[in-house]
Amino acid sequence: MSHNGRVARELSVAATSRRERRGPWRPGPFDRSVAELEELLEGEPPYRLTQLLDGLRRRSAWVTELTELPRALRDRLAEPCAPGLTPLERRSADRGATLKWVFATSDGARVETVLMAYPRRTTVCVSTQAGCAMGCPFCATGQGGFVRHLTSGEILEQVAWARRERPVTHVVMMGMGEPLANYGRTVSALRRLHQELGISARRLTVSTVGIVPGIRRLAAEDLPVNLAVSLHAANDALRDRLVPINRRWPLSALAEACAEWTARTRRRLSLEWAVIAGVNDRPSDAQELARFAHPLRAHVNLIPLNETPGFRPTAPGLAERFAALLAPLGVNATVRETRGRQIAAACGQLAGQPTG
Ligand code: SF4
Repeated sequence: MSHNGRVARELSVAATSRRERRGPWRPGPFDRSVAELEELLEGEPPYRLTQLLDGLRRRSAWVTELTELPRALRDRLAEPCAPGLTPLERRSADRGATLKWVFATSDGARVETVLMAYPRRTTVCVSTQAGCAMGCPFCATGQGGFVRHLTSGEILEQVAWARRERPVTHVVMMGMGEPLANYGRTVSALRRLHQELGISARRLTVSTVGIVPGIRRLAAEDLPVNLAVSLHAANDALRDRLVPINRRWPLSALAEACAEWTARTRRRLSLEWAVIAGVNDRPSDAQELARFAHPLRAHVNLIPLNETPGFRPTAPGLAERFAALLAPLGVNATVRETRGRQIAAACGQLAGQPTG
C-alpha cells in the first residue's frame, strides 16, 4: 500500500475511534505523509522539506526546535506538526537507566513507553494499542480493557520521544497491546522504524501472545525482525487460564505457526515465560516447556512476574531455580533482568495511568 493509502486508512480508523471516543483525533508529525508535509511547505524552497524531515526523523526534534527554519515558518508549522503524544508523566528508576512515560494521545487515550539503557544497547519498549483486548489476568494492561489501536505514526513517535533522551539501538513491541491484533499498523511501523528512523530490522522485536494468523502473515513478510511468543504455560488447560487467547488458538496451532515462522525466516524464536510460584514453576511445567521449545529450537526468557492487582511478584531466586530445571532438559533459558518495578514500568505493569 502507498504511504498516502496507508495514512488515509489509518486516519479513517482514527476517525472511527473519534466517533466512539471523547475528543477529536489529530495527526502527529509521523502521521503525515511527505506529500502532506510538502503541502504545508507550499511557497518554500524545496530544501525546507529536507530540513524538516531531517529534524523529525534523524534528530527527533520537534518543529518549534528547528532553528534552521525561519521563525515565521516554524510558527506556521507549529500547530499542524505538533507532537501527537503529550507526556503526562516521565519517571526514572535504576539511577536514570530506566525511563517511563505515560502519554496522552490527541484524542485522550493513554499509552506507556519504557526506555531501558544497558552498557551496550538502549532498548525502547513501545505500545501498539491503547489498552489491550487479550485479557491476560496477570497483566495490568489487560485488566484495563481495550481502548483503540495506535497508528504507525503514534508508534514511531514513542521512539522519537525516547531518542530525545538517548540514542536508541533496539525497539521491542512489548508495551501496551497485542501488536499482531493491530497487524497493518504494526508492520507499517516496523518498516518505517527501519526506513525513516534508520533502526535495523534485526534490532526490532515483535511480541505476541499467539495470534496464529498474524504469526503466519509476519512470516511471509520480507521483514527480518525478531519474534517473541508469550507462552507462560505449555499445556492447554493452564494456558487457557493464563493466556485466554489460547482458547481460540491452542498450543498445537501455535506450535505449527511458530515452526512456519522459523522455517521461513530462519530466525531464532524466543518464548517468554513469566514465572508464577506454584502455577508454572514445577518440574512438570519444565518438561512441558521443553517439549514445546525443543522442536522449535527456541530460546526461553524467564521473566520474574511483577506485582499487579491479584498477583504477587515472583520471589527472588524462583526464576533461577526454574532455569535450573530446564538446563538438564536441553532448553536454553535466560532470567531476564527486571527493570523499573518501582515506577510500574516493568512487564505486565503498564496500566496507562500516571503513578507519581
Ligand atoms: S500480557 Fe500483553 S497481550 Fe496480555 S493483556 Fe497484557 S498487554 Fe495484552
